[in-house]
Amino acid sequence: MARRGNSIIKGLEISDIITELNKAYADEWLAYYQYFIEAKVIKGIMKDAAIAELEQHAADELRHANMVADRILQLGGTPLLNPKDWFTHTNCGYEEPKDFDVVSILEDSIKGEQCAISVYSGLADMTRDKDIVTYDIVSQILADEVEHEEDLQALFDDITEFITDIKKNIN
Ligand code: FE
Ligand code: FE
Ligand code: MG
Repeated sequence: MARRGNSIIKGLEISDIITELNKAYADEWLAYYQYFIEAKVIKGIMKDAAIAELEQHAADELRHANMVADRILQLGGTPLLNPKDWFTHTNCGYEEPKDFDVVSILEDSIKGEQCAISVYSGLADMTRDKDIVTYDIVSQILADEVEHEEDLQALFDDITEFITDIKKNIN
């Protein structure tokens, strides 16, 4: 644990920061797996564009898990050691893909990103002016999650517009 590094944290219990970071850590692993498996099972129109996006997001979520775990350790905490704990600590849960269609998969993923944005926005509010280092890390992750939502929404809009156009041309 970094003693001097942690002495600059003011107005916050370090144990509370660790608790919240471990919840985000659980979210990141579940998000990673959700993207990983979605990229495998997805079916339908323009799926190649979706797979490229899902695989990139999976890599980003794993990188976020790394960033959060490293910060938990710096604070003197222990990242969750058992995957079973991901389900009891998660904020955003896990959306098992039930329908493998591109549109449904993108809808599930957009919901996940919107939840992640709320979580990191909350963590930024909690740490602003109190724990500068955690604030910086959660702000970087927040920017990624905002980009993720936008990427998926843009793809969703393109695909649904394309489907609407095809239907119009058939009629
Ligand atoms: Fe993430
Ligand atoms: Fe994300
Ligand atoms: Mg992307």
